[in-house]
Amino acid sequence: MSGRKSRGRNVEDRLKDIQHEILVRIASGDALADVMHLLCTRAQEVAPNAICSVLRVDSSGRLRPLAAPSLPDAYSQGIDGAAIGPMVGSCGSAAYFGHPVEVVNIKSDPRWADFRDAALSLGLKACWSSPIKSHQDRVVGTFAFYFRRARRASSLEKRIVDHCAHLCAIAIEHWATQGRMRRLAYVDPLTGLANRALLAEKFPEILARASECSKEVALIYVDINGFRVINATRGHKISDQLLRAVAARIRTTCDDADLTARLGADEFLIVKTNSGDEAALAAAVAALEKALGKPYRLEGEAVVRIGVSIGISRFPHDGTDFDALVAKADAALAEVKLSGRAGHAFYTAKIDAEARARRAFERDVAMAVVAGQLSLVFQPQADASTCTVKGFEALLRWNHPIHGYVPPNKFIPAAEACGAIGDIGAFVLLQALEQAAKWPSHLRVAVNVSPAQIVHADFAHLVESALMGTGVDPSRLELEVTESLFIYDSETALRTLQKLKALGVGVAMDDFGTGYSSLSTLRSFPFDRIKIDRSFIEDMVSNKDAAAIVSTIMGLGRALGRPVVAEGVETEAQLAELQQQGCNEVQGYLIGKPLPIEAYAKVTGAAPAGETRITGGRQPSSSRSAVV
Ligand code: C2E
Ligand code: MG
Ligand code: MG
Repeated sequence: MSGRKSRGRNVEDRLKDIQHEILVRIASGDALADVMHLLCTRAQEVAPNAICSVLRVDSSGRLRPLAAPSLPDAYSQGIDGAAIGPMVGSCGSAAYFGHPVEVVNIKSDPRWADFRDAALSLGLKACWSSPIKSHQDRVVGTFAFYFRRARRASSLEKRIVDHCAHLCAIAIEHWATQGRMRRLAYVDPLTGLANRALLAEKFPEILARASECSKEVALIYVDINGFRVINATRGHKISDQLLRAVAARIRTTCDDADLTARLGADEFLIVKTNSGDEAALAAAVAALEKALGKPYRLEGEAVVRIGVSIGISRFPHDGTDFDALVAKADAALAEVKLSGRAGHAFYTAKIDAEARARRAFERDVAMAVVAGQLSLVFQPQADASTCTVKGFEALLRWNHPIHGYVPPNKFIPAAEACGAIGDIGAFVLLQALEQAAKWPSHLRVAVNVSPAQIVHADFAHLVESALMGTGVDPSRLELEVTESLFIYDSETALRTLQKLKALGVGVAMDDFGTGYSSLSTLRSFPFDRIKIDRSFIEDMVSNKDAAAIVSTIMGLGRALGRPVVAEGVETEAQLAELQQQGCNEVQGYLIGKPLPIEAYAKVTGAAPAGETRITGGRQPSSSRSAVV
């Protein structure tokens, strides 16, 4: 065996060793620059006359030094950011053409014009550079051997470069994949902001640094007011653009050291790493509110204006760990939202007490069904001209062991917030149908349903099985929904409503006229009945505008062929006016208050019909009541 051959075999073995070592390092998750540094060092041990360098080509086609252990940093910095091209040294050209480039004499080669002085000053005379290619054949970097003599690379040196370039490709691709996975795991894809996971990971570091320098850190929780409405009325495309624009504005109001994240659909969190005292922080928050409040000019000339609600907590003042501080900023935000006014609130002990009370209230609501504290009352709905009872609306009552009677307007939102609405809604539906099963078959029963119930996958199924279980004909059940349903999740809502309709169940639009876009809601689904909100009826006798709205809704109902029910009819004057306008049905204290069903025994046939049972005609108001 000749000496040359034995040296060649030795090199092959050494290259195998290098390969093994580098692959182990890559698999262990070492930083890319460290792995490349090691590879260069090992390559130089095998090729002692070469000086090794590895560059990465970034996504914009620029060279980024990764490792060159035997060259000074200043040399690498001189190359950093250079765009690849046909005349950009050995490496820039190799990357540009995608094949190895050999420069035998840097001094005279025109491709080295821009880098010649730097190279010559270090005694670098020749350079063999090979492109590093990904498995998709894309150039992701270069691996080069410099020589101190103007000479060609030996075939062995070329072999080493080839081998190393292949290892570099594996390392760079692995690093890029890791980066992509990290971005997916830690970055919100819509806005490019951090997500909760990244925030939670970085937070301890931020607090540790702040503690060391006695700095204050603030958590600013931002929520866009009425984002659901924007989503429902302007569509997803505009809403997504808006979220991106909001994220961009948030970033511009922050310092580089601040961390910005998107936590929910329209919820953002800013961690101000050096928030200063309360006055400085308040000024920063005011600037943020001002920036976010300016109009957004989005694609297709769309202009959107938004208001935001902001909750703020501070380290170390309000807490010392991530979860506690986020919960406190969130509690302050909830306070702003519940108060019904936009703006911002700093976390305080009072807010804490209120948040705790709210949670306790939600716990109580969640327990109310099993604790047997819920019951139904029924309010008659009558023919407007004859006042004959056509059916009853079931209304929920909660007798809280401490607070006593709690109105549904207060506890239904709490039940929605804590998820108890599912059980509560099922209870109402079943109870109402069990009652209706005992009534004469011409009487309807109306049940209110929350958006949260309707968009639940099982809702249509629940209604179907409750009807089957109680034997009530589907046409006798009417579900009352409000427009907020369509803000909530309009696609799912429509699908469910269609399923319900297919079952033969009626659907009424409740509180008509109070929503954000009543007319378009009417168009989106063929409601069986329109219920004019009480507020219009209340004012219609004394206020011309309210009267005009009522008469318009009547006209709308006639044109669409949908019966109209007037809610909250309390006086004879209101009834007379409604009769004159051709209103189909009425509901209100004048006809009957919401009461336990026993109070309407004569109407439901549970007791013999008495003289005062309303059958219409111009009776005195005292006997108009359906209560007997
Ligand atoms: P709604 O469905 O519009 O119910 C009518 C409300 O107006 C009832 O209030 C009723 O007591 C009241 N009302 C009826 N006639 C008159 C009147 O002549 N004058 C006045 N001033 N008020 C009248 P209630 O029972 O407090 O219910 C309020 C709202 O709570 C309901 O509005 C409904 O949206 C919701 N709700 C009630 N029960 C349930 C339920 O079982 N499930 C769901 N999801 N929501 C319910
Ligand atoms: Mg209702
Ligand atoms: Mg109503």
